[in-house]
Amino acid sequence: MGEGRDVSRREETAAVPVSEALFSRAKKYIPGGVNSPVRAYGSVGLTPRFIRSARGDRIFDVDGNEYIDYVCSWGPGILGSAHPRVIQAVQQACENGLTFGAPTEREVELAELIADRIPSVEVSRLVSSGTEAVMSAVRVARGFTKRDKIIKFRGCYHGHSDGLLVRAGSAALTTSVPDSAGVPADYTKNTLVADYNDEASVEKLFQNDPDGIAAVVVEPVAANMGVVLPEGEEPRSQTDPAGGRGGFLTFLREITENYGALLIFDEVITGFRLAPGGAQEYFGIRPDITTLGKIVGGGMPMGAYGGRREIMEMVSPAGPVYQAGTLSGNPIATAAGLETLKILGEDPGIYRRLEEKTEKLADTVRRVAGDRVSVNQIGSLMCVFFTPGGVTDYSGALRSDTGAYAEYFSYMLERGVYLAPSQFEAVFVSDAHSGEDIQRTCGIIEEFWG
Ligand SMILES: *Cc1c(COP(=O)(O)O)cnc(C)c1O
Repeated sequence: MGEGRDVSRREETAAVPVSEALFSRAKKYIPGGVNSPVRAYGSVGLTPRFIRSARGDRIFDVDGNEYIDYVCSWGPGILGSAHPRVIQAVQQACENGLTFGAPTEREVELAELIADRIPSVEVSRLVSSGTEAVMSAVRVARGFTKRDKIIKFRGCYHGHSDGLLVRAGSAALTTSVPDSAGVPADYTKNTLVADYNDEASVEKLFQNDPDGIAAVVVEPVAANMGVVLPEGEEPRSQTDPAGGRGGFLTFLREITENYGALLIFDEVITGFRLAPGGAQEYFGIRPDITTLGKIVGGGMPMGAYGGRREIMEMVSPAGPVYQAGTLSGNPIATAAGLETLKILGEDPGIYRRLEEKTEKLADTVRRVAGDRVSVNQIGSLMCVFFTPGGVTDYSGALRSDTGAYAEYFSYMLERGVYLAPSQFEAVFVSDAHSGEDIQRTCGIIEEFWG
């Protein structure tokens, strides 16, 4: 990709950058000028770059600037952008019609492939976003257990459905206040909030209501408060089969079993990213229900949820839990998703390569920034928190100096490195990131702290 091209090339011919002109127009007709909030660059105090195209590990804005892309559309782009095989699969699918609202062969293939890659997902249902996947998974968990309450973790994001837009109230962990205006407190009273990596906070909620909790829903690696790893959890490949009591995820597996609750892994980010079978393969833990999104759609809007057969048999029309979608299993989305998953499956070296590139970035930041930052990295996910001392939970993440992050962000952007415009998002590395581009990024990181 882009060998020898000048990444930071600027074409400063127009008086007002096209991005700025578009953003002014957008703000008149679109709330905040964007169709999803973090795109507005609010937390870095800049104007968003409007994007014209992306290819491989490069993204191009409407002003003629070219960047190395570490956002990857917030996760779907594990192969980089516009992979020729994915584009071809989509083009071919388009020729045959965009939507039928009837079953298709690719949906069957995809469900088989998901079950093969993620054995805990024996049966799955396709939806059109991660939000829908988690919302539906929670509904099934409630229908299956005939219980109403769920536990989620402060700082974990599960999409924008009413019942999941909750963090802890300031008073007590059990007081659940909606994070958003427009969500009645009644809708979130069954959402209990615990602290990520804090076993006692989970135990307390179960002890208070031993028969009332339907499920614990967790990002097995929290990747929406920056990146926070599950404490004490070793990659399965490094676990000593003889010993080791396991870490936070093992604890969640055990406590949910003890109390007859289900364990939902929200793998919308980690699925197909940490390993072929996601975080559950990486750590060797089998949840009851898994939610997928982002990579599963290969760049098209798609999500999925699935799990044990007896649980998924609850879903309509097999069972009494209603869930539906006009565009669910859309033929273009299944074409993109299936091709992406096939490419990932054909290439056993891909996860090692992703990890090596990301480790290189992480090691560079650690070496040059020292204890001015805390760097968390796992597989192709990374976050540089602008706070010393390590980050293991949400309150730790919140100690970050977001002003310093904003400075870092604009320094990198100016030099052709496209990062997430928020301290609390992950750096995503794709298979399209070339060694030279990683090297180049490391050089700019060194300059920043130099
Ligand atoms: C992105 C995300 C969601 C929501 O997915 P959308 O497709 O944006 O609705 C849910 N859970 C996690 C962990 C996510 O990262």
